[in-house]
Amino acid sequence: MACPTCGSSVLFGGVKDGKRRYCSKNGYEADEVSRIADHIPQAVVAELSRAEWLRTEKRIWRSLSMSWRLRRTVSAGAAAPMRGCRP
Ligand SMILES: [Zn+2]
Repeated sequence: MACPTCGSSVLFGGVKDGKRRYCSKNGYEADEVSRIADHIPQAVVAELSRAEWLRTEKRIWRSLSMSWRLRRTVSAGAAAPMRGCRP
């Protein structure tokens, strides 16, 4: 069996994880990302379609622009009395 990280053959020892066998603990840790990716169901990946992504992005931008507008209103409101106090 070959180590999924470095490709060297692992006959005994190493770290076993399910069907995979790594040559060392370092190799095992280095391959963590691909192991996690393996565990993500295809359905979840399919759900995160481009359309879904764009919708999420739009929502983020909308809430951002809303908070900017709010901040501008607040600072305008805070500046108004000062202007009004001037003779
Ligand atoms: Zn290895």
